[in-house]
Amino acid sequence: MYTAHPDRYADMPYRRTGRSGLKLPALSLGLWHNFGPDRPAETQRAILRRAFDLGITHFDLANNYGPPPGSAESALGEALKSDFGRYRDELVISTKAGYLMWPGPYGEWGSRKSLLSSLDQSLGRMGLEYVDIFYSHRFDPETPLEETMGALHSAVQQGKALYVGVSNYSAEQTREAARVLGELGTPLLINQPRYSMLDRRPEDGGLMDALDELGVGSIAYSPLEQGLLTARYLDGIPEDSRAASDSPFLNSDAVTKELVGRLRTLNDIAAARGQSLAQLALSWVLRGGRLTSALVGASSPRQLEDSVAATHNLDFTKEELTRIDAAVKR
Ligand code: NDP
Repeated sequence: MYTAHPDRYADMPYRRTGRSGLKLPALSLGLWHNFGPDRPAETQRAILRRAFDLGITHFDLANNYGPPPGSAESALGEALKSDFGRYRDELVISTKAGYLMWPGPYGEWGSRKSLLSSLDQSLGRMGLEYVDIFYSHRFDPETPLEETMGALHSAVQQGKALYVGVSNYSAEQTREAARVLGELGTPLLINQPRYSMLDRRPEDGGLMDALDELGVGSIAYSPLEQGLLTARYLDGIPEDSRAASDSPFLNSDAVTKELVGRLRTLNDIAAARGQSLAQLALSWVLRGGRLTSALVGASSPRQLEDSVAATHNLDFTKEELTRIDAAVKR
């Protein structure tokens, strides 16, 4: 029987999500990888427990997380039953629909048909009556945005979601989504873009500016570039790493000599700050308080502990920022 740590709220900073009433932990946990049946259930349970004990109140999912698709939601459903049921009101659980989930024309993208059926399936797998945040996982160029946003609004009206978000939407798509949702009376809570020291698109493409203007929150996914921005690959490719697995999203080709050279420079900058490379990468995305939360993955409780410690050192000197930009060839 799990009892949450009594001091779980002592250290984690919580940040307001845009202009909403909802605060999120500076670090949130994603279940995209490491929560399928190919991973030991004990490790999964240990990661979730450690996360909550460290003040991570937000678990992020999507219909298709696993592998196979759906299995991460089922795993969370088991954990909710065994460990977290009585802490439900202390948790922010999100899910998404938009990527391929089931065969045929309704198993992906952004139709009302697809989004609302998918949400029902997700709730079933997690054994929940509602999620805290329901996302459109990607912009659908063929479905009227009014329909996609209308489906998110309906999810809230039906009591199946408390807030709504968009992910992988550009600045312009986000502005439109916020406008449509605003007219419906369901504010856009948050955007979930990819953002890291190596992937600056949310800054370069005007998304961060748009979110500031709109008062919409932001949660960065893959802030560690799936593990590349950590010490994992400094001396080769560990057997138990994502790059060595059969993940279609990261393989050993990504670990080039040139990249490792850059990582070594970043690792030196991190060491001078008394941080691990992973901590540097997380502090960097959280610097200045602009982002609501950094959404990390973890394959062990130890990684999570290392990552969470980043929240104690979020200030950078101008010189450090310049050295980081030079290291990643900005
Ligand atoms: P990260 O960039 O945080 O990479 C996580 C991986 O980095 C871990 O699996 C582990 O790799 C390694 N790692 C984590 N912490 C440490 C540490 N302290 N020291 C050393 N290595 C570490 O994120 P993900 O790519 O996993 O994405 C995070 C979440 O973002 C997802 O779970 C999901 O919720 C969300 N996401 C959303 C997307 C969207 O389209 N909206 C797309 C992708 C992700 P290893 O497993 O090799 O040990």
